[in-house]
Amino acid sequence: MSIRKIASFVAGQWIAPGSGARPIESAITGEVIAEAGGGGVDFAAMLDHARTRGGPSLRAMTFHDRARMLKALAAHLSKHKQVLYDLSFDTGATQRDHLIDVDGGIGTLFVFASKGRRELPDAQVYLDGGVEQLSKSGQFLGQHICTPLQGVAVHINAFNFPVWGMLEKLAPTLLAGVPAIVKPATATCYVTEACVRLMLESDLLPDGALQMVAGGTGDLLDRLGGQDIVSFTGSAATAQMLRATPGILQNAVRFVAEQDSLNASILGPDAEPGTPEFDLFVKEVIREMTAKAGQKCTAIRRILVPEARTDAMISALCDKLGKTTIGDPRLEGTRMGALVSNAQKRDVLEKAATIGLEAERVFGNPADFTVEGADPARGAFLPPMLYHCADPDAATRVHETEAFGPVSTIMGYRDLDHAIAIANRGQGSLVASVITHDPAVARAVALGAGAFHGRLYFNDRASMAEATGHGAPLPHMVHGGPGRAGGGEEMGGIRGVMHYMQRSAVQGSPDMLAAIGETWMPGAAERAAPAHPFTRRFADLQIGETLHTDPRTVTLEDIEHFAEFTGDTFYAHMDEEAAAANPFFPGRVAHGYLLLSFAAGLFVEPTPGPVLANTGLDALRFLKPVSPGDSIRVRLTVKKKTRRTDTYGEVRWDVGLTNQDGEPVAAYELLTMNAY
Ligand code: NAP
Repeated sequence: MSIRKIASFVAGQWIAPGSGARPIESAITGEVIAEAGGGGVDFAAMLDHARTRGGPSLRAMTFHDRARMLKALAAHLSKHKQVLYDLSFDTGATQRDHLIDVDGGIGTLFVFASKGRRELPDAQVYLDGGVEQLSKSGQFLGQHICTPLQGVAVHINAFNFPVWGMLEKLAPTLLAGVPAIVKPATATCYVTEACVRLMLESDLLPDGALQMVAGGTGDLLDRLGGQDIVSFTGSAATAQMLRATPGILQNAVRFVAEQDSLNASILGPDAEPGTPEFDLFVKEVIREMTAKAGQKCTAIRRILVPEARTDAMISALCDKLGKTTIGDPRLEGTRMGALVSNAQKRDVLEKAATIGLEAERVFGNPADFTVEGADPARGAFLPPMLYHCADPDAATRVHETEAFGPVSTIMGYRDLDHAIAIANRGQGSLVASVITHDPAVARAVALGAGAFHGRLYFNDRASMAEATGHGAPLPHMVHGGPGRAGGGEEMGGIRGVMHYMQRSAVQGSPDMLAAIGETWMPGAAERAAPAHPFTRRFADLQIGETLHTDPRTVTLEDIEHFAEFTGDTFYAHMDEEAAAANPFFPGRVAHGYLLLSFAAGLFVEPTPGPVLANTGLDALRFLKPVSPGDSIRVRLTVKKKTRRTDTYGEVRWDVGLTNQDGEPVAAYELLTMNAY
């Protein structure tokens, strides 16, 4: 069999492995199938290429341009995913595992693409929060903005998810506008390399936006500076070593770490045998022990059940584990494939032995189990192994030892406080789950354990048909955890993008801030509209373009007519005495909704034109009551424009209503869709 040479992609060129390349074995047969690394990579050239080519090209695009690029990349990968499936079997993964890795990775790209277009502006600057008024008259304001780092993101990934692991970091990085150098774990880098090749062949990425290192990182990390970021996934020991790289410390290089985790799952005190929650718990635990042969950072390592139900749970779990078919992952009937390598298998057995010092093995004998379609003496196969720790308070190793394979330990708890205390002994985890039908249990765990876990997952009979699983990190939600889990945070929707950007506080006059954020704000210059703004096409409208309407007097008849017509006969509009007794009103006042309707009547241009639809109002405030006899007028200003499709875009209008004395009575933002 020929050995695949896994290349690095450096400054636009594929560089074959050097003379000191490391062999990579098949998880199923133990044979060497590929090699990678061994020198020959010019890391200085790589960084220079990313900084001088990739970065500037990405930063010239808007968030929406980059989001569209991600969507196209995801669609391209989706079309070619069979290539990735075919290669992934040799990592020991089953077809079901490929869905997590390959489809999960592509799905993550799609979610970031869609969130990028919905939640980020079609611009190069992200406004973080609102405007802060820093002076009396409003001529000196503050705002926080985020702009892309001007360096490189170095992504160092673990072996277990060669596709998802790369894409979950790449999506927010590219969306932010930062080029990436991806360094997959050597054991499975042949799958990542194939995925990188697909992305590069698509021609969707600017030159220098994506490079890849197969094998070691040489002096790459020593060369990083303050505009660069390292995002690491792997073991705590490696993270600790890499964090201490002198260049990283000296230059305060951002270092995000996702490391190992002793995740716990708690069976709620309410979940008796025979309840849907009891069965659901069994299902979740079995899935977490066997998916990816337990090589998931989020897998359930500690199973916490009420003491009185420990035996019933052990028996239910053993029953199900006994039905797990282990074998060649290419076989359709295989439920659990192999670990990634024989080295990983040895490591898991060593860690399992450590756990065995404090817990008794109640299922799975690594010296005696059946493997379908493969030779257990050559491939990296293990059975699922369940341990029972009878005294979790006295034990230490079961709370500290991560056997990164199909190994979990069950332990009994006395009451919910005890369960929370045990869960927190993992000293910081990626996820803790609770299977309970009792909302009070959920609240107690959220308060008692929230600070120790990056994600809390609650499931019960109401959510079980749709819940995504204890172990599934989602692009919308934060992935990471405190303490032992690395203290990092990834994804979490747009939060994940911000890790690759610098937040700056900007201070200045409204005109300065409006220009920086391409967003008009009160106090900034208004532009006289050359024609009614509703007659102007999206592309022609300018930020700051303003219409001032004529005034309209609000009469008592108007108020009564509106009250009868709509049915809103609230006393503040209809009963002088009762209204006057209310601390907010001088007497009868106009309905807020009447003012909005009159405002629309004052500013609309009725004939068909570029305004296609009113899609909503934001930030509506009624600031001062309007009494019968008062008059109102409206200011309508183009605040922000966001392209939505090739034929129309969203216009956000800043609307201000004032009374006859020029006092603000209402303010809001109006959204319309306008034709190009
Ligand atoms: P690992 O041995 O720590 O390796 C992680 C990455 O670091 C690999 O790409 C590895 O490359 C690289 N690396 C190791 N030494 C390096 C060095 N001196 N300089 C630069 N890079 C270096 O972890 P693993 O065995 O791949 O993964 C298993 C661990 O990852 C488990 O502990 C698991 O809990 C954790 N994990 C955490 C998450 C999470 O999201 N929190 C997800 C998955 C896995 P080589 O392969 O070339 O050595």
